[in-house]
Amino acid sequence: MAPITKADWIWKEGEFIRWEDAQIHLLSTAVQFGTSVFEGIRCYETPDGPAIFRLRDHLRRLHDSCRIYRLETPWGPDRLHDVCRAIVGKNQLNACYIRPMILRGYGAAGLDAIGSSVEAYVAAWPWGTYLGAGALENGVDACVTSWQRAAPNTLPMMAKTAGQYLNSQLMKWEAQRNGFHEAIAVGPGGLLSEGTGNNLFLVRNGVLITPELDGTILAGITADTILTLARDLDIPVSVQQVPREMLYTADELFLTGTAAEVTPIRSVDRLPVGDGKTGPVTRGLQQRYLATVKGQAPDHYGWLTPVSAQPVPA
Ligand code: PMP
Repeated sequence: MAPITKADWIWKEGEFIRWEDAQIHLLSTAVQFGTSVFEGIRCYETPDGPAIFRLRDHLRRLHDSCRIYRLETPWGPDRLHDVCRAIVGKNQLNACYIRPMILRGYGAAGLDAIGSSVEAYVAAWPWGTYLGAGALENGVDACVTSWQRAAPNTLPMMAKTAGQYLNSQLMKWEAQRNGFHEAIAVGPGGLLSEGTGNNLFLVRNGVLITPELDGTILAGITADTILTLARDLDIPVSVQQVPREMLYTADELFLTGTAAEVTPIRSVDRLPVGDGKTGPVTRGLQQRYLATVKGQAPDHYGWLTPVSAQPVPA
């Protein structure tokens, strides 16, 4: 995967600091124990200038992650809304990725990290296709990983926390070492869960199927978008328990995520999906999704927030 493309400025608690100056102490609680909640948001180039997709929904999820981990910050969704717009403008970015982070900084020695400050940052940088060139067009090769997602009531999988991505890293490494682009995991009950940083969809006999939120899955905003667009297109939808073997009998499979957008899966465990080419339901939803995020289709749901010149929110 491509390295981060550096931008000039990062926002930290009311001011812009130089990219190079966004440093935290080695012994910050976030570094020692993984207490850092974050979001991944995309800003797209639209006919009316850059616009951020589903910004309020991402900031609500960030707020929810803070609540789950008891991270108290004055930088709530309303204030970060303006910050996210401002960071794009300040860096003179157009299409980019926006990364708000709320983390426990330096102070406490132990796990009861109440003595550590809570710090808020928002970074942004240019970013293209996530799963490699051609992934959106041709699809990716996926496998079922030997690593399971965490059981409900172990790590709260509905929170988007840095520490949870240790599991995703193990999944990803295993998949890539074995020649696959992406991994799909089952949960502790053996039923299908999600990918490393994306949600899973299947199509069978024209019905769009996705695993239900069972405590092993992040409630994806792209997945919600796809379910909404599918209903608009009169595609029947089923949110349900999904046994692993349905992967091998599906007509179409795809992954969704802010970074992955709508990425077709062309093979799973080396078995071609359908005829190995992107199927009509996946292609139709992918086209509608990309047209929506890029402002080329009507924004019925108010999902696009334009980026216009913003003062630094204080
Ligand atoms: N699952 C996981 C584990 C993720 O990291 C992501 C990416 N945030 C998703 C699903 C997809 O979520 P979204 O569509 O909101 O980006």
